[in-house]
Amino acid sequence: MSNLETDPRESACGGLADVAAEPVEELLTGRDVVLGGPRAMRVTRTLPNRDVRMVGAWCFVDHYGPERATMRVPPHPHTGLQTVSWLLEGEILHRDSLGSEQTITPGGLNLMTAGRGISHSEESAAGALLHGVQLWVALPSHVRGIAPAFEHHATLPRPVSPGVVTTVIMGELDGVASPATVHTPLVGAEITLEAGAGTRLPLRPGFEYAVLVLSGAVRVFGTRLSPGPLLYLGSGRSGLELRSEGGGRLLLLGGEPFEERIVMWWNFVGRSHEEIVGFRREWAEGEAFGTVSGAARAAGPGTGSGAGSETGSETGSGAGPGTGMAPLPAPELPLTPLKARGRRR
Ligand code: MN
Repeated sequence: MSNLETDPRESACGGLADVAAEPVEELLTGRDVVLGGPRAMRVTRTLPNRDVRMVGAWCFVDHYGPERATMRVPPHPHTGLQTVSWLLEGEILHRDSLGSEQTITPGGLNLMTAGRGISHSEESAAGALLHGVQLWVALPSHVRGIAPAFEHHATLPRPVSPGVVTTVIMGELDGVASPATVHTPLVGAEITLEAGAGTRLPLRPGFEYAVLVLSGAVRVFGTRLSPGPLLYLGSGRSGLELRSEGGGRLLLLGGEPFEERIVMWWNFVGRSHEEIVGFRREWAEGEAFGTVSGAARAAGPGTGSGAGSETGSETGSGAGPGTGMAPLPAPELPLTPLKARGRRR
């Protein structure tokens, strides 16, 4: 998915000094963001958050649904990150400039590594039930310039204990590792608890963690958590205590605190204002991020037709899925250069 905001704020984050070095329970309220399109889709964005910008290398968390909606995200670029697409309901078709074309369904993982640059589109069937998350993982400097890549994992490790099913989506949890490619020590896992079930999962004291409930309700330590906010847990913990009275599903995100300060703007992760300006220019000029097959490049930014319009291409012109969505033009950059801000306020 894309950051479709027309006025995205540039934000700097990262740096060990800002990580909670001890266990905390901090409830981070998300903000509702409307993704454009004929039938707008609402997402709740809990990362970056004004209080906590990253959890390990996880730098972006959008949760959407369950609702009948149409996801229609035209071709747009990414740099310096991985996109992690995970569904609970529905299906989404991913296409990218490497020629990948992959439908994702619940239980499968679409993982796109942008590296130095890629473009992609995402579409769902019109008005179908959708429920899922779109997550970004920041790439560390030594790999952020690598060639782009896409991988799909139809099945993932699913350790089961009484009343509890865990799916290790990314990284490693309790000795079980996902086959997905990661570049920093981290974990992303979905945990489903039946009504009345509880568990204690081992955590790494050197990781920081957060929990997002996707459905139902789950008690995490002392906090009863429902879909909406992200519960930031800090670091220094050796276990995660979960219990659900009525049943629930949650996402556990964690990782080694990300040491580098990053700059996120629109769909780019970079290291400086100047670098972001360069990414934006390359996208506007057309070829640097390749072409998404099945989606027309012709009306894209920089070709004169529709370029400069903030809203023009986002909704397309009534074309059906895969029949030529025009690429998304990048929003205007802020007039003031990036002010470096801490990872936490
Ligand atoms: Mn995207």
